[in-house]
Amino acid sequence: MFVVLNRWWHSLKIDESKGLIYKKFKDHRLFTANVFLFGAFLGVILWIWDYITDPVGAKETIGFRCFFLILLIEYVLLRKWKNPYMLGWLALFFTLLTLVDYLLILTHLEKGMIYGIAGFMFYMLLPPIAFQAFPLWINIISIMIVAAFPQLFAEAGFVNGFQQANYAVLIWPAASIAIIIQYFYARNYRHRYEMEKSLERLSYTDMLSGLYNRRYFMETFHNLLEHAKASGTSLGLLIADIDRFKSINDQYGHPVGDEVIKSLSALFAKEVGAAGIVARIGGEEFGILLPDTDREASLKLAEQLRSSAEEMNIDVVDEEQFVCTISIGIAVSEANSDVSTLFKKADQALYKAKQSGRNCIYRFS
Ligand code: GH3
Ligand code: MG
Ligand code: MG
Repeated sequence: MFVVLNRWWHSLKIDESKGLIYKKFKDHRLFTANVFLFGAFLGVILWIWDYITDPVGAKETIGFRCFFLILLIEYVLLRKWKNPYMLGWLALFFTLLTLVDYLLILTHLEKGMIYGIAGFMFYMLLPPIAFQAFPLWINIISIMIVAAFPQLFAEAGFVNGFQQANYAVLIWPAASIAIIIQYFYARNYRHRYEMEKSLERLSYTDMLSGLYNRRYFMETFHNLLEHAKASGTSLGLLIADIDRFKSINDQYGHPVGDEVIKSLSALFAKEVGAAGIVARIGGEEFGILLPDTDREASLKLAEQLRSSAEEMNIDVVDEEQFVCTISIGIAVSEANSDVSTLFKKADQALYKAKQSGRNCIYRFS
């Protein structure tokens, strides 16, 4: 029993992952707000229905009808706030207020409780449409509360003539359908979200090395440089290039060359860690961005990378080992730096390092 309940509870949390709830909220916020706007005016306009069923009683229901405008508060809050949980519970709260209001309208109309029962159907229709911006579990709980509320309210003696049996056979099947719609919608949304995420990951990952690709590198470079200038810190840029890589390919074959790229990539990622962003920006060329890092710290890390690469023995098929070295060019941002000049500076430094005999580091003083 507990296992079943637990599984059920977890399936309600289908959209409860970091980022998903807020993305879902962002995607549906305006839509949900507009359904509340529509609902507020629909509640008022349906006074026509009161008038058609009972022209005399309808004179007393005008005020109650205007109370539906309270839904405009949720509309305004949805446009201002960004918390799907708080707004989800508030949506339920305002819906319940209009439900009490609707029950009062029905008590003022001749045979209101009999004819008006179809009006409760709106309450089963609207939550699965309007509540899309909120987490699934809040929506499902909301639908159940909204469905049960008139029955409990009548049971407690607040309204007379409530048609318990008619209500139950009409509303509970509708509530079940509303819950199923919510569940499958949330499942589809999650599926789409995960697909978007994996496409996004693919779009900024280099397939061979698993590092970031050149596109992501250039975008991040731009953002980090802006940030460095705004905060008065410096951004370190290293460009590392494998020495005489062509001869490794020629001597051991392309697949071994690929393995060298992979091993060095793993090494760079490990050594740089959380201190920066490592990307493969060319065939055997790597870009490393080091936020909040000055010249000395950049040089120190570059030296660490160079010596670790030199110490790394690369195995080839016939148990032969060889050493592969790298050269690094360094540039560090200043107050007036821009992406292209800083990149050019690091590239020229790399060229100098190559000219100086390789397996070394160069930075302009
Ligand atoms: P230098 O020390 O001046 O950098 O010499 P180098 O041989 O490393 O430089 P060069 O630019 O002449 O050659 C780079 C080589 O990298 C040529 C190309 O075949 C190889 N290469 C580029 N991308 C890949 C790749 O994905 N896999 C493999 N195995 N080789 C690659
Ligand atoms: Mg090279
Ligand atoms: Mg190169």
